Amino acid sequence: PSYTKADIKQIVQDEQVEFIRVTFTDVLGAIKNVEVPVSQLDKVLDNDLMFDGSSIEGFVRINESDMYLYPDLSTFMIFPWATDAHGGKVARLIADVYSKDRTPFKGDPRIALKAAVSRAEAEGFTAFNVGTEPEFFLFKLDEKGEPTMELNDHGNYFDLAPLDRGENVRREIVLTLEKMGFEVEAAHHEVAAGQHEVDFKYSDAVDMADKIQTFKLVVKTIARKNGYYATFMPKPVSGINGSGMHTNMSLFDKQGNVFDGHDADKNLGLSDTAMHFLGGVLKHAPALTALANPTVNSYKRLTPGFEAPVYVAWSASNRSPMVRVPASRGLATRLELRSVDPTTNPYTVLAAILSAGLDGIDNKLEPSTAVDKNIYLMDENERKKAGIVNLPDTLLAALDELSNDDVVIDAIGTHITDKFIEAKRIEYTSYRQFVSQWELDNYFMNY
Ligand code: ADP
Ligand code: GLU
Ligand code: MG
Ligand code: MG
Repeated sequence: PSYTKADIKQIVQDEQVEFIRVTFTDVLGAIKNVEVPVSQLDKVLDNDLMFDGSSIEGFVRINESDMYLYPDLSTFMIFPWATDAHGGKVARLIADVYSKDRTPFKGDPRIALKAAVSRAEAEGFTAFNVGTEPEFFLFKLDEKGEPTMELNDHGNYFDLAPLDRGENVRREIVLTLEKMGFEVEAAHHEVAAGQHEVDFKYSDAVDMADKIQTFKLVVKTIARKNGYYATFMPKPVSGINGSGMHTNMSLFDKQGNVFDGHDADKNLGLSDTAMHFLGGVLKHAPALTALANPTVNSYKRLTPGFEAPVYVAWSASNRSPMVRVPASRGLATRLELRSVDPTTNPYTVLAAILSAGLDGIDNKLEPSTAVDKNIYLMDENERKKAGIVNLPDTLLAALDELSNDDVVIDAIGTHITDKFIEAKRIEYTSYRQFVSQWELDNYFMNY
């Protein structure tokens, strides 16, 4: 909704809001917030709220640490659950980060996404529409309120209660999201035990990235209220499906959905523009992986046999490739990128995907031929003949791809790229030095 400063002041007064929480996202995708009492509302609305950027992952050095938060008034909402000590109301605003000299800060992922969207607008597109399908697991909390490794149920895909014990939590999540302005399209039990999915209607990229951040907060909050711990970690349990966040996307212009080719017999009904966009996404897929799958654990999900992609390929008819073309046409014509997982920073990943697609459109890149076989049943030779390459299989390999892809680097800027790669290499090194149970089980007695 579009609010003026006066609207917000009025609502805050009428609803007796007590605190204002101003949020933003760091380079690695974590939500951060500064909370102020309502007496400071004018300062917030006048873009005068300052914070110390040196303590935020990937932001700035100590000597240049004063930064400003410029709230996006359209993101104003009151949390539907009581948050402060005596049940008073707390409102939030999502902000862009500005430097001390009051210029947009190059390390702010939300600003990077806005810049990518502006480039699409300059090419005549009115919106980059995105709809995601985030999956998550519910684990039980113990008496002390700490998460355990015990899943909340043994349900399966589309199961009902009593097999699905997440039904009521999921309903409460959906109702809460609706109060917060989400249009929820579906919610269901996923394939793995304890695994759930909630889908909400697509929206323009910046709004969708904001919504993903809000969504995670809602899921975690409502799960805890019900005695569960919700995790978006991609592969919390070995040997069963992990959690993805399929990302559906399309470009619109004044006439409507540009991806719709209006001719069912050509390119599966996709437009030339959609085919070029796809060509760009496939070309840059290895580098995009660093952003779409940014944790060590992400690569434990991207393995054969668990409905997650392993190869750079696309298809209309089966779900094993990285990009699927869902059957709906008209307004719902879209590409579904299935590699993305919920540990991604939604702002940077969408900026990068959009820029990869625009590179495809600008340079008229053609996608490889669609693969209509189950790729997992093809041997290496068959895959080679079909031009199917592997997605990076470790975080380290993906980071190397990112550092060599100028289109993706330009999409998020060198500040974010450098800070991201630096932090992630440290993360990888720390993982590499850790001796795991698997190694003890397999080597200890044998050597
Ligand atoms: P699946 O076919 O994988 O089960 P779902 O129906 O669960 O897909 O989710 C589809 C997602 O795609 C929803 O978030 C929906 O709003 C979104 N979507 C529909 N049309 C478009 C479009 N034109 N552009 C982007 N996203 C879209
Ligand atoms: N959980 C699967 C994944 O890891 C996706 C299952 C589905 O098709 O929704 O991507
Ligand atoms: Mg799913
Ligand atoms: Mg899907």
